[in-house]
Amino acid sequence: MIEANNPNLTSWLEVPSNHDFPIQNIPFGIFSTSELSARTGVAIGGYVIDLSALYKTGLLSDLPFEEVDFTSNTLNSIINRGKSATTSLRNRLSELLNSETPDLRDSDSFRSKCVIDMSSVTMHMPIHVGDYTDCYSSEDHARNVGKMFRDPENALLPNWKHMPVAYHGRASSIVVSGTPIRRPNGQLKPSETEPPIYGPSRLLDFELEMAFITHPGKPLGNPISTSEADDYIFGMVLFNDWSARDIQKWEYVPLGPFLGKNFASSISPWIVTLDALEPYRVSGPNQTPQVLPYLEYEGAAHYDIDLEVEISTPEGESKVVCNSNFKHMYWNMRQQLAHHTVNGCNIRGGDMIASGTISGPEEGSFGSMLEISWKGTKPLSMPDGTERRFINDGDTVTMRGSQTSDSKVRIGFGEVSGKLLPAL
Ligand code: CA
Repeated sequence: MIEANNPNLTSWLEVPSNHDFPIQNIPFGIFSTSELSARTGVAIGGYVIDLSALYKTGLLSDLPFEEVDFTSNTLNSIINRGKSATTSLRNRLSELLNSETPDLRDSDSFRSKCVIDMSSVTMHMPIHVGDYTDCYSSEDHARNVGKMFRDPENALLPNWKHMPVAYHGRASSIVVSGTPIRRPNGQLKPSETEPPIYGPSRLLDFELEMAFITHPGKPLGNPISTSEADDYIFGMVLFNDWSARDIQKWEYVPLGPFLGKNFASSISPWIVTLDALEPYRVSGPNQTPQVLPYLEYEGAAHYDIDLEVEISTPEGESKVVCNSNFKHMYWNMRQQLAHHTVNGCNIRGGDMIASGTISGPEEGSFGSMLEISWKGTKPLSMPDGTERRFINDGDTVTMRGSQTSDSKVRIGFGEVSGKLLPAL
């Protein structure tokens, strides 16, 4: 185990027990304050470390970075330095924040420049997303959708267990947590026999997902294998793939998702590195039939990350509507990346690849309102007495996630939250 993941480490900064961001996590983000323009930082407990200020102290100057990497208002330049560079950066930050290390701990001047109270920061999109791909890798989700819309006896399409199917999505409408989401207008076809109409989506949904962010890949034409994939994955965020079911249903044949998906997706602001998750790998489901050799992966490639979704009404009454886990995925991230590049498709630093809706096997663990309300046939009662089949105007959807299987260390993702505004 690398020292930065040692569960016994403590920091000279006070971190409440069971906090999402202990010294073993050190997630990366972009923040600003009333005095400071948007810049790179890492989170520890209730604090943000200003990496541009830290760079100026000289304590990072032997690492393979330049000042411009830390003053940038996206993390792309840090991520573009590659995996060994970002690993060395996280390791150095772990050392500097360690309760045994005096450099920052004992310097009032360094601390006052580098350590910022999290309550005073505004978080921004952590990366400029170049390309975005959405997979469809949860078997329980794919089965539920297949049962609802196709044949309950043959819920999975013939290709599903042979490849992690995916589509290329829209990068420009990925927004950071806290950004309000506008209900989209579009073509709907509420009646089988009548022509389509134009208007606000009536079936607005969330999708509980996680997404990974890539380092620069290989040149065009060169695949990344499952065993190489870790070197190209920087970290992960929570991902809400907002979906307009009625627009989606009418438009998706034959070319797949388009306007029912590309109006917005929301992400959590702190990117948790793959390095921080390394001790918490678990085995995934048995893959039967045997996958093709390019999709084989030796070893544990899943992560035990508890996930929840909460809906809050406009009046602020909340209900957790889903408890799921990232380990329910059928296809893992190494397989998704190997499949994505097997034809030579090149990935770039800051690309985002989302998991697809993460549903578990039983009711209560379904990752979308489509499944929770079973296409609207089983409405959910809210604490204020109202019902939800899908998301109402004024509702706020919040997703949280954390690795909690280790009783000593919690590696959390914070949250991704978004309020739905009425259609224009
Ligand atoms: Ca999706």
